[in-house]
Amino acid sequence: MGESGLRSAIDYLKIPDDGSPYLEGYVCGNCEAVFLGKRTTCSRCGTRDSMHTKVLANTGTLYAFSVVYRSYPGIEVPYISAIVDLDGGGTVKGNLIGVEPDPQNIKFGMPVQLVFADALGRKDQNGNLYLAYFFQPHTDS
Ligand SMILES: [Zn+2]
Repeated sequence: MGESGLRSAIDYLKIPDDGSPYLEGYVCGNCEAVFLGKRTTCSRCGTRDSMHTKVLANTGTLYAFSVVYRSYPGIEVPYISAIVDLDGGGTVKGNLIGVEPDPQNIKFGMPVQLVFADALGRKDQNGNLYLAYFFQPHTDS
């Protein structure tokens, strides 16, 4: 397979051959703390070699955000940089899209969902698109 040409530039963003992309977390077998990215020692309780992987939820709540007005050349501003507590564990940083970058429109604790999209059409030297993830307000429609 591999004909989709989509790659992940983020080690905890997984793209299965069949099925939807997902974020992978590591869970401590002792204290059940959830982390992003591979590790062998729990940074909360210090237990060694009891981490196992877990497919993280694609819904969560907004824990913190900031509206970014200045960035690198070529990056469109303003945008919203958010930190989201995923349902079931895991804290993820990402951009919040689908809402005006005005603090009045954004509320702490608001429900958000994870969406996957190619990273602004950026391609590597082989023409592969990179997959990235974003958050958007979660509606029950
Ligand atoms: Zn632990």
